[in-house]
Amino acid sequence: MSLKSDALMVQAAQGDAQKAAAQWKPRSLRLRIVLWYGLLLAVALCLFVAVVWIITTNTLNESVDSSIRAEARVASVALENELTPNAPYWPRQLFLQGSALSREQGVQVAVLDTQGTIRYPANGDVAFLPAKKTFQATLAGQIQWYTTQNRGNGRFRVETLLLHAPVSKGTSTAVGPIIGTIVIAKTLSDVDTTLLLLRTLFIVAGVATLVATFIGGWLLAANVLRPLSELVKTSRAIASATAHGTRIGSLSQRVPRPHGRDEMVQVVDAFNEMLTDLENATQAQRRFVADASHELRAPLTTIQGNLAFLQRHLNELPVDERSTILADAHSETLRLAKLVEELLLLARADANVDHSFTAAVHQGLVKGREEKEARAQLIELDRTVLQLIRQFRGRLSVENIKTKLEIGHIEPVRVRGEEENIRRVLLILLDNALKYTPADREHEERITVSVERDKQGALLLVSDTGIGIDPDDLPYIFERFYRADRARSRVGTGLGLAIAQTLVEQLGGRITAESTPGQGSTFHVRLPLA
Ligand code: ADP
Repeated sequence: MSLKSDALMVQAAQGDAQKAAAQWKPRSLRLRIVLWYGLLLAVALCLFVAVVWIITTNTLNESVDSSIRAEARVASVALENELTPNAPYWPRQLFLQGSALSREQGVQVAVLDTQGTIRYPANGDVAFLPAKKTFQATLAGQIQWYTTQNRGNGRFRVETLLLHAPVSKGTSTAVGPIIGTIVIAKTLSDVDTTLLLLRTLFIVAGVATLVATFIGGWLLAANVLRPLSELVKTSRAIASATAHGTRIGSLSQRVPRPHGRDEMVQVVDAFNEMLTDLENATQAQRRFVADASHELRAPLTTIQGNLAFLQRHLNELPVDERSTILADAHSETLRLAKLVEELLLLARADANVDHSFTAAVHQGLVKGREEKEARAQLIELDRTVLQLIRQFRGRLSVENIKTKLEIGHIEPVRVRGEEENIRRVLLILLDNALKYTPADREHEERITVSVERDKQGALLLVSDTGIGIDPDDLPYIFERFYRADRARSRVGTGLGLAIAQTLVEQLGGRITAESTPGQGSTFHVRLPLA
């Protein structure tokens, strides 16, 4: 293989490794929380340590420098007294009397002439002598402060001052020639010991804090996240039960509720509420399918029985009886057709109910195209109602029904939605009012329709003077397939009011009923104003 392709492979491998490093994320939320938590704390600790370290070293250095400066001043004055104004400038021995008196702990003074010869102390024992280069630089005035490392005696902080020959009285010059340097040094062993102690303290305390944080964070995260694992466990149990076809049973499971009122409790509550809703919906669906099958089977059985009887006894039966049997079968097919039609209507209405969208339309939250669509379905409720009443009156007179259909209080009101659905709701209510208001009683029977508006919105009222609804039945009349016993003698499927309720909800409204048995019923349809 060529060198170039080797290099390419190495590059590719490096790229993969970088990608893997960039994509690496701990899979456990708990670990992620603890790592982030630890990382933030570590950064905060580092910042704190850095600030304390800088402040401490600055303060210690400042105190060393100021004691050196004080000593330097004393030493210069003492030297001035001992040097001669003319060459050779130097006395046989320097004593630095003043300096010796004020000498601080650990501060040492040395005096060198321009050749680098130690003039003071007399024994020449100086641990902090500058290197030759540094010495040259100090003579040239380039360096004044430096720190030096002496192998046996540790670190020293050093200040060098240029030493001028004293000026004899009567001369005009302000300073004499440079004849050497004064070197003042202080050992940094105390500073170093303090800093070492501080460093050890920082490391021990930092590591202990981080370890404690990791352990504490790990336990805390486990405690906080426990409801989440319960949630996952329950969801998985439901999912696997669903896969095995036992959903109803498993939907009764609930996640144990943690103590308190924090966000996690809210999540668990919301999840449990969702399970309750799902369970109710699934049960309602099952009930509905069972009821629907039952309702569909009844007319089918009648039709089958009648036809089978007719087939067997076709020749023996008199014509009258034959036509009665056929008429029965025919009316049952009509009932079946109506039932199927209503079931379809209900299924379609169910599929269309989108409460959030309807609410958004009515609150004016839907914008743009959707708003135009919503506007396009503006309905003048009063006009729609009057039109339908007119048509219904036509039907009453054609069928020669004595019950009166009266127009009550009608106000101009506009609502949003599909007009066909509003017509359907009103038709269901009028049909029922008519069906449950027998016209053969002594006093005159009436159905009254009104349209009003108030602060809460539009109100459509349909009242009748019919048989009324028993208080025991009243809470259930909007349920699918529910029929009060008193209604059993009349044609019906028990789906009309369920359809009306679904359609009204689709319009963002509510339907309710009130009734006095034997005197009549009133249905209230409340719709939001456009
Ligand atoms: P149905 O096909 O039986 O009329 P609905 O869903 O329309 O089904 O009505 C459900 C039940 O509510 C009816 O069986 C009847 O007992 C009662 N009901 C509905 N409307 C009226 C009314 N105007 N007066 C008396 N009872 C009514």
